[in-house]
Amino acid sequence: MEKACKGWEILNADDFRDINPGDRILMGPGPSDVPARTLQAIAAPCIGHLDPYFLAIMNEAQQLLRYLFQTENELTIPVSGTGSAGMETCFVNLVEPGDEVAVCINGVFGTRMADIVTRIGGKLIRIDAEWGTTIDPEALRQAIKDRNPKVVAVVHAETSTGACQPLEELARISHDAGALFLVDAVTSLAGMPVAIDDMKIDAVYSGTQKCISGPPGLSPVSFGPAAVKALERRKSPVVSWYLDLSMVRDYWGSERKYHHTAPINMIYGLREGLRLIAEEGLEQRFERHRLNHRALVAGLEAMGLAMLVPESIRLPMLNAVRIPDGVEDINVRKVLLNQYGIEIGGGLGQFAGRVWRIGIMGQSCRRRNVFLLLAALETILKTEGYHVQPGALDAATAVYDQVC
Ligand SMILES: *Cc1c(COP(=O)(O)O)cnc(C)c1O
Repeated sequence: MEKACKGWEILNADDFRDINPGDRILMGPGPSDVPARTLQAIAAPCIGHLDPYFLAIMNEAQQLLRYLFQTENELTIPVSGTGSAGMETCFVNLVEPGDEVAVCINGVFGTRMADIVTRIGGKLIRIDAEWGTTIDPEALRQAIKDRNPKVVAVVHAETSTGACQPLEELARISHDAGALFLVDAVTSLAGMPVAIDDMKIDAVYSGTQKCISGPPGLSPVSFGPAAVKALERRKSPVVSWYLDLSMVRDYWGSERKYHHTAPINMIYGLREGLRLIAEEGLEQRFERHRLNHRALVAGLEAMGLAMLVPESIRLPMLNAVRIPDGVEDINVRKVLLNQYGIEIGGGLGQFAGRVWRIGIMGQSCRRRNVFLLLAALETILKTEGYHVQPGALDAATAVYDQVC
């Protein structure tokens, strides 16, 4: 029997309500809270992508991105897509089939980079470190000593573990081997220094929804002179048409050669988010992240909770804390969201069910949020039967008191 009507034919527009997600405080691994000014900028009229007004906005967004990356790199643009599109952009433009690529892996995002390298025909050299630790420079040196890697890739801020990778030594080893140094700065950018010229980073990608505090959808990418040269000397065309920077750069450059339509309103939003960052000042912003991080950790530890990674390699903006035995991961996060409006992240990969990932990124990185989360967690953990030690809020207060 044939049905009288197909499902789509009986759709009633009145069944769909206005979008109203309600109040949330985003303290997970991204997205972070988006400032009202950024949302307002996104709501400005959509105009033509070759309209002189919009072309000026594009130039300003690039100028602001160079400020954030602390770079002179001409080829600095927001790629149309989330952080993963930026990751793919870097690899597809720098790697040709048969090229050797060394990827440092100490968490989920290193694993993804390795996956991309093999998909595009690169020869993968893996440098693995235990998740929650950092890559030992000596391990990189050994892994590439008799090889000829074109690129060495590493994640600056491993969002799956909260570990911060020191870059200086890895950059030196990579360059000594004649390789380009490629860095994932998705979570680190705008929350800690990512000064790519000083740090000798040849290519970098990031994302808008972490410490920049925009909605997800754009991926700032920057290529230095050596990476641009590698792009120009390719023997084969870039395997992705959409992410081919040799064409995309002619659109963002003075030629304005149409490639794909820039996501106009998203670029308004990025420009506003970056303008807010410039108004605050980079050093002030980094200090704000360090301070709120110290207060948050002081509070969590006072409660009796344990951080996943040692203090010396802790990221300020992403705090992985061990879930105590007997406490139900999903339950705690559900109550946090439903009763307090606070979102935190669960563990990824081997840390699923074992850690919470608390983000204090960009707009979400505020004293108010640190106190709200500590107070809420204290209450919820008690009802979960965990013996909460007293004094979390006092411990956080003491950290803030040291500075004012
Ligand atoms: C979030 C993240 C990505 C991926 O970004 P999407 O915007 O989710 O595509 C890549 N690397 C790191 C380190 C991240 O934290």
